[in-house]
Amino acid sequence: MKSLITGGAGFIGSHLCEELLRRGDTIVVLDDLSTGRLENLHAALATGQVRFVEGDIIDEALLRELTAECDRIFHLAAAVGVKLILERPLHTMNVNMTGTHNVLEAACDLGKPVLLASTSEVYGHQVAQSFREETPSLLGPVSEMRWIYAVTKLADEYLAAAYAQERGLSYIAARFFNTTGPRQTGRYGMVVPRFVQAALAGDPITIYGDGRQVRCFCHVADVIRAVADLMSKPETYGDVYNIGSDQPITIQGLAERVLELTGSSSPIEYVAYTEAYDGLGVHDIRYRAPDISKLSRTIGFRPKHTLDEILTQMIEYYSTPGRG
Ligand code: UDP
Repeated sequence: MKSLITGGAGFIGSHLCEELLRRGDTIVVLDDLSTGRLENLHAALATGQVRFVEGDIIDEALLRELTAECDRIFHLAAAVGVKLILERPLHTMNVNMTGTHNVLEAACDLGKPVLLASTSEVYGHQVAQSFREETPSLLGPVSEMRWIYAVTKLADEYLAAAYAQERGLSYIAARFFNTTGPRQTGRYGMVVPRFVQAALAGDPITIYGDGRQVRCFCHVADVIRAVADLMSKPETYGDVYNIGSDQPITIQGLAERVLELTGSSSPIEYVAYTEAYDGLGVHDIRYRAPDISKLSRTIGFRPKHTLDEILTQMIEYYSTPGRG
């Protein structure tokens, strides 16, 4: 099987690349290296089974050429990170919508199945004990630019569903919840690498808000296993799936686990949420947890890694100087 991974030099994409190699695929990675890094693919490229193409999903001709030579597409390329989205909203919309349109159009024309990476952000500030795939989204208002990411990803899901209905596209929409693990960078704001790196450096751990907001952190290895399993089962096509861990923890609790496991004496500092994002119209999601029963029904999914295992691996990873 030959797979195309758009965004394959990113954190999740590069782990997916290694998983597909383990499953016997040859791979073409398309990445513009905007947030991805070639060093993420170091081990994968060394196998000789991966071809790296530096390029953009806006480039229709290139996409079509690469889609033609592959059997299936994992579409992970996107503009990501709250900071980038707030600073470059037009670019974000162009990449996430025009780019995804190009991917779906090529996949549909050439009859290749595509897995679309979506996000838990699509549930927005909906309040629920856990989000099911059918839970309605609560997004906006338009004056808050952070919602651009969720709106574009939700539009992409509708676009895929429309291609499926009218033109027979085979697709899966995978809504990633908080995913973490080695190679994730704190540069785009992700909390786990930020806390681990701060603790290792003896710098203050900065909690935005009161620390009582809740997340479920899933190891990237569990996430990409689910992605590869879904794509290998055509009976799962044409649907939306939550992918994540269902073990909740407060951000305060996370900070305390990081301090405990690193043995660090870093202080915890609290920063008002509006201050953390320069008053740019960002409000936190207080409680976010997926209902993963659909995923466990269809592919028998259970996250294998506990939070302590994830943190232990990340502490080891970031203990090597120059990482992150
Ligand atoms: N957060 C924090 N300190 C940081 C980075 C993030 O307290 O240095 C908080 C953030 O406000 C959010 C949670 O940690 O409540 C998870 O943030 P992340 O950006 O990793 O994911 P998301 O907000 O998309 O769930």
